[in-house]
Amino acid sequence: MIESVSLHLVRGLPVINKGDSLADLIQSRFELLDGDLICIASTVVSKSEGRVRELSSYTPCERALAIAKNLGKDPRFVQAVLEESSEILLDRPFLLVVTRFGHVCVNAGIDQSNVPPGKILLLPENPSLSAEMIRRELNRDCPVIITDTCGRPFRFGVTGVAIGWSGLSPIRDWREATDIHGRKLEITLEAVADEIAGMANLLMGEAGDSTPAVVVRGLPRFDGGGSMFMPEEQDVIRAILSSK
Ligand code: GDP
Ligand code: MN
Ligand code: MN
Ligand code: MN
Repeated sequence: MIESVSLHLVRGLPVINKGDSLADLIQSRFELLDGDLICIASTVVSKSEGRVRELSSYTPCERALAIAKNLGKDPRFVQAVLEESSEILLDRPFLLVVTRFGHVCVNAGIDQSNVPPGKILLLPENPSLSAEMIRRELNRDCPVIITDTCGRPFRFGVTGVAIGWSGLSPIRDWREATDIHGRKLEITLEAVADEIAGMANLLMGEAGDSTPAVVVRGLPRFDGGGSMFMPEEQDVIRAILSSK
């Protein structure tokens, strides 16, 4: 049972540039303890990995031109989305895609907020690998979650979700646990990494607060591996979208 947790903003982080060590920047500003979990906004992970691109560097293909015309978007932006995607699930009224690392989101998560004008920011190529590399640079034993702010189907509002993780199982398996009447749970898998990312994202803010890292203290260890990305063959919603 989780009795209580506390979340703490890491203050004073600078504008992040290619090559910056997020691990060092964070651990020099916040006294980490073993077992603290660190949430980091994908925006700054991308910046540290040099994933900033000039919009003008993209040359739109025929398909990008057609989609862009339909959406009233910049064809170079659409081209960038196509290049970051392994599959397009919807091309109107917005671009819903599967990124190359398996995350389903709008516009391949390409961001124009918190980046200079004329530039775009791609998501990290492999956010779980990014999380692992950051974790290895820490002087303490801390799981790491890379977050992004995403919309969700069926509901208003964006929330933070986990797009990469290292040092924890992103899913908590409740199967075989018993409910208050002694009945065994059969299917409940809890997306703990998303739950944690959601709360961390609440502290980070979306605009100019400059607070892309949050330390979560007091969680149990969620041991084990696993992924949050549902394989295509299990995903009934994706099958319906793909058949359109
Ligand atoms: P996303 O959710 O990963 O797309 O990231 P956001 O663009 O919503 O930014 C999350 C937080 O990180 C906000 O508090 C931003 O102000 C902050 N942020 C974005 N870029 C930087 C940066 O280069 N340095 C710092 N210190 N904060 C940043
Ligand atoms: Mn942003
Ligand atoms: Mn984002
Ligand atoms: Mn955000």
